[in-house]
Amino acid sequence: MRLSQFHLRTEKETPADAEIVSHKLMLKAGMIRKLAAGLYTWSPLGLRVLRKVEAVVREEMNRAGAIEMAMPSVQPRELWEETGRWAKFGPQLLKIRDRKEQEYCFTPTAEEAVTDFFRQEVASYKQLPVNFYQITSKFRDEIRPRFGVMRAREFIMKDAYSFHADDESLHAQYRTMYDTYTRIFTRLGLKFRAVAADTGAIGGSASHEFHVLADSGEDALAFSETSDYAANVELAEAVSPGARPAASEALRDIETPAQKTCEDVAALMGISLARTVKSVAIMAGDGDGNLPEKGGQFVLALVRGDHSVNEIKLAKLPGLADYRLATEAEILEYLGSEPGFLGPLHAQKPIRVIADRSVAALADFVVGANKPGFHIAGVNWGRDLPEPETADIRNVVEGDPSPDGNGSLRMARGIEVGHVFALGRKYSEAMKCTVLDGNGKAVHPAMGCYGIGVSRIVAAAIEQNHDDAGIRWPQAMAPWQVAVCVINPKSDPAVAEAAETLHAELNAAGIDTALDDRGLRPGAMFADIELIGIPHRVVVSGRGLEAGTFEYRARSSAEAENLDRAALLARIA
Ligand code: ATP
Ligand code: MG
Ligand code: MG
Ligand code: MG
Repeated sequence: MRLSQFHLRTEKETPADAEIVSHKLMLKAGMIRKLAAGLYTWSPLGLRVLRKVEAVVREEMNRAGAIEMAMPSVQPRELWEETGRWAKFGPQLLKIRDRKEQEYCFTPTAEEAVTDFFRQEVASYKQLPVNFYQITSKFRDEIRPRFGVMRAREFIMKDAYSFHADDESLHAQYRTMYDTYTRIFTRLGLKFRAVAADTGAIGGSASHEFHVLADSGEDALAFSETSDYAANVELAEAVSPGARPAASEALRDIETPAQKTCEDVAALMGISLARTVKSVAIMAGDGDGNLPEKGGQFVLALVRGDHSVNEIKLAKLPGLADYRLATEAEILEYLGSEPGFLGPLHAQKPIRVIADRSVAALADFVVGANKPGFHIAGVNWGRDLPEPETADIRNVVEGDPSPDGNGSLRMARGIEVGHVFALGRKYSEAMKCTVLDGNGKAVHPAMGCYGIGVSRIVAAAIEQNHDDAGIRWPQAMAPWQVAVCVINPKSDPAVAEAAETLHAELNAAGIDTALDDRGLRPGAMFADIELIGIPHRVVVSGRGLEAGTFEYRARSSAEAENLDRAALLARIA
């Protein structure tokens, strides 16, 4: 690729509105441009990287025997009604209407669509197992799209769905996918870890997440140093209060003016304030949109992890008038939580934030409720989840003994880049999907589903691989392996020709090479090549030609060296 004929547009200034390094560098390198909140255009440069990631994912899925296909982005409401997810998926599901007033959604995931395909295509257990996958755009109306493509609204996901005659076959495929994911993230050169996870909105019985380790990660992971034990703490926390129904029962018994502290309420709800509450807000309103001055109740929101917001109607709190009115947008921003779990808060307009982020501030407020059976109204448990199978690790801290009895726990932050689920028969049963077994009897196939955040991987890789000069791509993801830089191509035809020859030879040898023939001054040219993270830089100059050498520098090294052709090729290969 001749860069003079490519579209490369880097920026000198660091974009002010980007919070994390990958977002900054992707903008600076001109890999992505924002179209609207959570919607990004991939530039030609960005797309090259995205395609490299896709290629590794595709190769490894094919190697594992999965079969590629493609399903529509826009899917009819009726399909999603079959599983109840038209309603249950929550506000992340983008709903659209056509000219005939028919309702559709933009696919956030495709269990329904693939199960519909399967029930039309596959009739016998003899055709099983089968694993269909696609690499396509998904849309989730994230409440807080942020960090560029890391948490976008439209993003590229590889999603795979397997079908099985029995549970043994499902578990074998689950293991195969687990191993495949391990190969994929290893080939991509990422430092990652697989952790036990909850089963989220998708439901099912077994689930692991794959996390790229990075301090900017949104999830907290706990793992043992001496065994395989690893889990997503925040998810375990979000699903662990097994006492959910019991907690709401208990809350019904609090009579006004019961003197319950936040800790008491938290204890009743099976959550531990000190460690699980990330941020705390007290909202005021009567549930009908009236201001607290007119009387009414108050709402306490305990915001845990990324997912759960629990509301408790409160008796009147002192000191409200001292606090300013917050806008709904501010509160949503402040909570930074998932929309599915903020439904009741949306309705609670206007809202006041009267506590700041300190948990201690809450302890001074007295919590109560006024009518049996009413306090818990509007409580949003969020997800319809089975009991978690993982140990309750909500309160673990670094150094605690590992729940598997092996060594002590360490904590790390992670970016979720992949997720494997053993779904069981939830979807095949809901959608009346059957195959004939060996006895000619109709049975529901067991299913698994396996996602990878292809576009998120690009950002996650940068979080792990960068320096002051810019991105340092792992080999497998680099837009080009080599940049051949030409000094003064216009004024020195011999130099231009030698560079062209090297560029052509390297590409012919299967080494993806760019020729920087843009005619920039060396300083500006080298800065671009470093910023966009090309692993190998070769400079062709008049002086070098005379000496029979090329100047070579690895992106990972501070030193350049002069090498003859053979030595250069040995270094690059
Ligand atoms: P998260 O916990 O980050 O919201 P998720 O658990 O909702 O992700 P899954 O339903 O497991 O996501 O989807 C499979 C993969 O898709 C995730 O592991 C992640 O890598 C990717 N993904 C999910 N949401 C987004 C998003 N908003 N932007 C980019 N990638 C995403
Ligand atoms: Mg999500
Ligand atoms: Mg998740
Ligand atoms: Mg997930």
